Amino acid sequence: MTPGLMSLILALRAGGSVKWDGARPRLLAPRSQHQALLEAGDEIRMILDRARVFRRQFAEWTATDRTSIPLLVLTEAPEPRAGFCVSCGGPSSGWRCAICLTAVLITLGCDLVQLGQRLPLGPSD
Ligand SMILES: [Zn+2]
Repeated sequence: MTPGLMSLILALRAGGSVKWDGARPRLLAPRSQHQALLEAGDEIRMILDRARVFRRQFAEWTATDRTSIPLLVLTEAPEPRAGFCVSCGGPSSGWRCAICLTAVLITLGCDLVQLGQRLPLGPSD
């Protein structure tokens, strides 16, 4: 798990939440988590920015009466290939990197606290 993702999940576990302010996701966190979130600021911003992009793509997709879920890919991402994130093109051992996966989960309104409780909070991923 990346340091930013760990900080995000810890902030959510401490009572924080991700709220949508129009098209922008906003992270609301208890003051006790602010320093850790500031230290992970770049990664937190990347997660929230990607969530914003993916939410727009999801809204455009559902507005056309299509079924299922769109792939959710950054516009600058290269064509999908093994060993790289399908959403951003960065190195990944899975389908998506941790930053994009978290952004997708925020986009879809998943409970990150519940999901995070199943994830080890160590620096392994
Ligand atoms: Zn990615």
